[in-house]
Amino acid sequence: MYKAPVEEIAFTLNHVAGLSDALEIGRFGDLSADLVEAILEEAGRFAGNEMAPLGEIGDKQGASLTDGKVKTPDGWPELYRHWREGGWNGLTAPEAYGGQNLPHMLNVAALEMWNSASMAFALAPTLTMGAIEALVAHGSHALKEKYLAKMVSGEWTGTMNLTEPHAGSDLGALKTRAERSDDGTYRIFGQKIFITWGEHDAADNIIHLVLARLPDAPAGTRGISLFLVPKFLVGDDGSLEARNDVFCHSIEHKLGIHGSPTCTMIYGDGKYSPGNDEDKGAVGWLIGEENKGLACMFTMMNNARLAVGMQGVAIAEAATQKAVAYAQDRTQGKAPGWSGNGMSPIIEHPDIARTLITMKALTQGARAICYACAHAIDMSHHTEGAEARHWTERAALLTPIAKSFATDAGVDVASLGIQVHGGMGFIEETGAARYLRDARIAPIYEGTNGIQAIDLVTRKLPLSSGDQVRGFLGELKEIADKVSASNDTAFGETGDRLRAAIAALETATGWLLETQGAGRTADALAGATPYQRLFGLVLTGCYLAKGALVAADNGGPEKRVALCRFMAENLLAETSALKDRVISGAASLQAARAILA
Ligand SMILES: Cc1cc2nc3c(=O)[nH]c(=O)nc-3n(C[C@H](O)[C@H](O)[C@H](O)COP(=O)(O)OP(=O)(O)OC[C@H]3O[C@@H](n4cnc5c(N)ncnc54)[C@H](O)[C@@H]3O)c2cc1C
Repeated sequence: MYKAPVEEIAFTLNHVAGLSDALEIGRFGDLSADLVEAILEEAGRFAGNEMAPLGEIGDKQGASLTDGKVKTPDGWPELYRHWREGGWNGLTAPEAYGGQNLPHMLNVAALEMWNSASMAFALAPTLTMGAIEALVAHGSHALKEKYLAKMVSGEWTGTMNLTEPHAGSDLGALKTRAERSDDGTYRIFGQKIFITWGEHDAADNIIHLVLARLPDAPAGTRGISLFLVPKFLVGDDGSLEARNDVFCHSIEHKLGIHGSPTCTMIYGDGKYSPGNDEDKGAVGWLIGEENKGLACMFTMMNNARLAVGMQGVAIAEAATQKAVAYAQDRTQGKAPGWSGNGMSPIIEHPDIARTLITMKALTQGARAICYACAHAIDMSHHTEGAEARHWTERAALLTPIAKSFATDAGVDVASLGIQVHGGMGFIEETGAARYLRDARIAPIYEGTNGIQAIDLVTRKLPLSSGDQVRGFLGELKEIADKVSASNDTAFGETGDRLRAAIAALETATGWLLETQGAGRTADALAGATPYQRLFGLVLTGCYLAKGALVAADNGGPEKRVALCRFMAENLLAETSALKDRVISGAASLQAARAILA
């Protein structure tokens, strides 16, 4: 069973991502290291003891739909109530609405634990937190007063309604219609698909954030508005009133995350508003300005992208724990040098050891990247002027890498975990297969990883005319130089390997900026995904080294140095090939396209 790696999480937050430095200078008010530790300990206890057992049940039972009502797995409504009563839903939310105003870093660390225990369950709060953030940033005073306290407490959950059958990655194609009403509200008509936790039995009300198009809206993404559409209308005193005209038509049968209801939602077809024509439609309230809805939704989506990255980290962690435990227990053959009686545990075989250490390196690297992204978000909120702009850009640069590298790591590590289990990995009862099934959606939703790569190359590299990414590369070089300057021979060739990998990233970055500058977008995009992976691998190497340097300075466990050396001397070799794919892959791709005709 999953056990939260609280010590590892705390170490990465403090010494790799920058939390302890921020605490020391009082960046987060009177938040103390002791309080951080206590929060992490308690989250770990809840995730391991209360959530993980119900996660397994949820996978087996799944969610079901009967007569328009969605039933979540046995015990989940009670689990959700316990969880929200613990105050976990409002960690980062404003105090004015009952939240705790804590740094995002703490919340993503907690999210990691919830997702390791049950990714399907953790999706409900993940969407609610995103909706809260969008409402805080863009909602009117009246909407905030009416909805936020209940959403922050978790009594009401939130959803994100973007996708339609013909509008997935391309939101400009969406057709859901919004009409202005005389009373200042709007009426929403249309169908949304794949809506996570769109309907369920764990909360009294569900607050849908819905993208829709006004009749006179410009075409494409510039004509999209964002609306708040509650399942139950809410009176001025906060009481629940009539059912709004929105319902769940069906739920999907999926590869994984079985406990999470993925709903087709119908807005305004008259099921709950059978009155006059003018009463028809789901009642919605505008968030932000008309036709500016996509920008508002991006507040929610950026938050959700990092949260989805945490899903990758979480699955990778849980899969690694399970694989290590199995490899210690399972005996087969005799490993070279094995002197014990009988067969050796498979963990003694070099191939299995390599697999497990690869899993650990990818997991810890993905964790560090995501936490560093959360740190940048926190710093952007707690600084001003040029400094705030710098951190906003750093968060923007890191978000696609965090989402894509971590979710790819989730899939890769879960797959390796099955391999370590041999045939038993393919059999459901070990639980290794569930991790791969659950992990597989994460590179797809919240903007596919392919879309993240396009975002990274076309929008994030050019930030501050390329100075943001160049400055970041400079920081990474400092880490490599420190490793080279260290007298610790346990680092092996780490310093040289890091420098070579950073040089590969620098060359690829320069080429991409130049190629785009010359208007050769197709050539740049041909290598966008290899570039994204290249960046993630370099960051993994550098962040593992950063942690190892701290550990070595403090006479800490040599295992950090050993892991970072393994990463540098084994996995970073891929970076040179990735650089070549970025720079010279476009021509052969173009030449090969005829194959697909
Ligand atoms: C379990 C689950 C839960 C979900 N939850 C939600 C939710 O809560 N709310 C919500 O609104 N949506 C949700 N989604 C929808 C999800 O966000 C979309 O599936 C995703 O954005 C991809 O859209 P699509 O499926 O239409 O694929 P498409 O957009 O058709 O993409 C297909 C492939 O083409 C690629 N592609 C598309 N456009 C481009 C381009 N311009 N350049 C290069 N490549 C491109 C993609 O990367 C992908 O590989 C969920 C989906 C699932 C399966």
